[in-house]
Amino acid sequence: SKKKSDDEATELDDIFISIKTTSSFHESRMQLLLDTWISKCRKQTYIFTDASDFSLIEKMPDGHVINTNCPESHYRKSLCCKMSKELDFFIDSNKRWFCHVDDDNYLNTDQLLQLLQKYNHTENWYLGKPSLSHPLEIQSRSREGQKVAFWFATGGAGFCISKALGIAMVPEAGGGKLIKVGDSIRLPDDCTIGYIINHILKVDLTRVDLFHSHLESQFRIQDPKKHITLSYNEQNVASVPGFSLKDDPTRFKSVHCKLYPSEEMCAGL
Ligand code: UDP
Ligand code: MN
Repeated sequence: SKKKSDDEATELDDIFISIKTTSSFHESRMQLLLDTWISKCRKQTYIFTDASDFSLIEKMPDGHVINTNCPESHYRKSLCCKMSKELDFFIDSNKRWFCHVDDDNYLNTDQLLQLLQKYNHTENWYLGKPSLSHPLEIQSRSREGQKVAFWFATGGAGFCISKALGIAMVPEAGGGKLIKVGDSIRLPDDCTIGYIINHILKVDLTRVDLFHSHLESQFRIQDPKKHITLSYNEQNVASVPGFSLKDDPTRFKSVHCKLYPSEEMCAGL
């Protein structure tokens, strides 16, 4: 097939969508995503996990489940290890955009595409939602007594990185180097990404308010069509009517039916 030229419009297939998960969430969180938004972008979605699970591979065959062999824990090292594999796979994919989400995010691919079509993937772009109202301040690792301040996009809200920026990150973060950077500043994966992009590479974070993590109130979200990502945490869920709270505690099924009412799963609504 003919190679796509850089001036052609961005399509879904130009996006590398990666989900970070862990083996204990395959049956719960991942199944919900497979039943809902992943069905709209199977070909573009890659699942980064920490165990080889044949029932998950059956649902997402052809190399879409990556066993990172990273440790099964929430510790910084393990999370940076997964993020480092996500970045390496994105670079190898040669796609225009890297978009990361957690396994408790709903991704509205139509809105994501609308966002990315506004930006040029051949320029450096870091798009996401900061959870702090100020830059994160840490002690400099090279100059004692000095402070370093930088912005980062909350991983749990999802964020995107352009191809140009991904390539610029490789000398600092490629081939597992991201884990070393995370170790040296002792911060989680999303902060480490921000440190590399904003502090080392001096690329700004572009704030996109349509990404949402469960650090924000999800109740305020009523029309999922307008948003790029949603999340949930216990009772903090989007205010979207549809299925009962018992059948859809996270509201993701109701969100999915609001976006795609003709889906089979929405027939009873
Ligand atoms: N996660 C992981 N390993 C773990 C625990 C969590 O990779 O041992 C992933 C999880 O699948 C999710 C993300 O890290 O994609 C954030 O986890 P969670 O939502 O449980 O916690 P949060 O940090 O959002 O409170
Ligand atoms: Mn979470």
